[in-house]
Amino acid sequence: MSKLMIIGCGGVASVAIHKVCQNDGVFDELLIASRTVSKCDALKDKLQGQTKTKITTAQIDADDVEALTKLIKEYQPDAVLNVALPYQDLTIMDACLAAGVDYIDTANYEPEDTEDPEWRKIYDKRCKELGFSAYFDYSWQWAYEDKFKQAGLTALLGTGFDPGVTSVFAAYAKKHYFDTIDTIDILDCNGGDHGYAFATNFNPEINLREVSAPGSYMENGKWVEIPAMSIKREYDFEGVGKKDMYLLHHEEIEALGRNMPEVKRIRFFMTFGQSYLTHMNCLENVGMLSTTPINYNGQEIVPIQFLKALLPDPASLGPRTKGKTNIGCIFTGKKDGKERSIYIYNVCDHQECYKEVGSQAISYTTGVPAMIGAMLVVTGQWKKPGVFTTDEFDPDPYMDALNKWGLPWKVVENPVLVD
Ligand code: NDP
Repeated sequence: MSKLMIIGCGGVASVAIHKVCQNDGVFDELLIASRTVSKCDALKDKLQGQTKTKITTAQIDADDVEALTKLIKEYQPDAVLNVALPYQDLTIMDACLAAGVDYIDTANYEPEDTEDPEWRKIYDKRCKELGFSAYFDYSWQWAYEDKFKQAGLTALLGTGFDPGVTSVFAAYAKKHYFDTIDTIDILDCNGGDHGYAFATNFNPEINLREVSAPGSYMENGKWVEIPAMSIKREYDFEGVGKKDMYLLHHEEIEALGRNMPEVKRIRFFMTFGQSYLTHMNCLENVGMLSTTPINYNGQEIVPIQFLKALLPDPASLGPRTKGKTNIGCIFTGKKDGKERSIYIYNVCDHQECYKEVGSQAISYTTGVPAMIGAMLVVTGQWKKPGVFTTDEFDPDPYMDALNKWGLPWKVVENPVLVD
């Protein structure tokens, strides 16, 4: 029996909270703490009565380490699950260290203000040394390794679907199917249609920053960077059909590249429709994706935050989104001296997710693995001192939990490969 504190109460958090409450044999107490406490209270009112989990709520600004440490010390959870924004990763890790509890998240750190000169200096050096220019990377959180180790605490990073499940698939392939893995292609397909000309499936600011950045992949341990959306392939996805997909930079490439250095090439592809790309290009060209504040009529406005206020709330897409997602990894390599290739993937239906927890599949495929990661940490199955990504533990209990908690997966031998 355990006590969990969840920070954030948006699209992903809502699914994680539903799943924690379904799993009340493990989580008997839950504190939902977020910036807007009315959202936490609304969810508590909805779920209390359907679960044995005792839910409480609190207002918190997770940028305020002192206030957050105080709240964690008062509640004394076994772990904190951060499903706020990547901007809060470091302050929540600091508070977990100060309060002496384990830490779990779904996305690696990126700064809210990319013009901050102190951050820029480190970022520019990293771009030059490593050769990729994404605003997010693991270096900030990997730097906490010694602190978590010395405190005897676990930090589990990136337990969403991608990153998260995709890295567990890699550990599972390595454990059960290969002597050596040569290539990994991660394919993220969303065949859902929400009926809007343009909307993002999760936080627009984070989503648009990610997809408008240059693409990159890892080859022989080195980053290769390409202009945004300049490598396109078509793939026929089970449950969805043929879709165009584009090579993007993605955070699990960095972790897998470090933890599985024998893999010669790691790439990540995501599907996009033409309407999405046309809107995104246009918004970028007119400056609406910028994170640099501008002065408008005496008021400071961050263009991408203003855009976020105009776009549909991702949490409102649930009832409208029809179709399926198909996310997985194609591995090639060798087993017993012979060439082998497999594809491990999950197909998830937007409307089924909505029926179960009131959210579309993008939030669902992230919120379920967030709960699973938290479960494995609080039950001690994935607990060791230090800072880890999901490829660094035994994948078997996680894979079993995916089947049990709503994200069943398949392994297919000899799939069509991506050229
Ligand atoms: P939302 O914007 O829907 O929700 C974010 C929540 O965090 C909101 O409730 C917000 O409060 C709260 N929050 C923001 N700032 C603070 C703060 N300073 N203190 C306390 N609470 C705060 O985001 P999503 O649910 O779409 O995404 C959540 C996380 O999941 C992100 O880190 C995202 O990158 C990650 N993600 C990971 C994926 C994966 O597969 N690994 C896929 C998709 C998302 P308020 O309600 O006041 O706005």
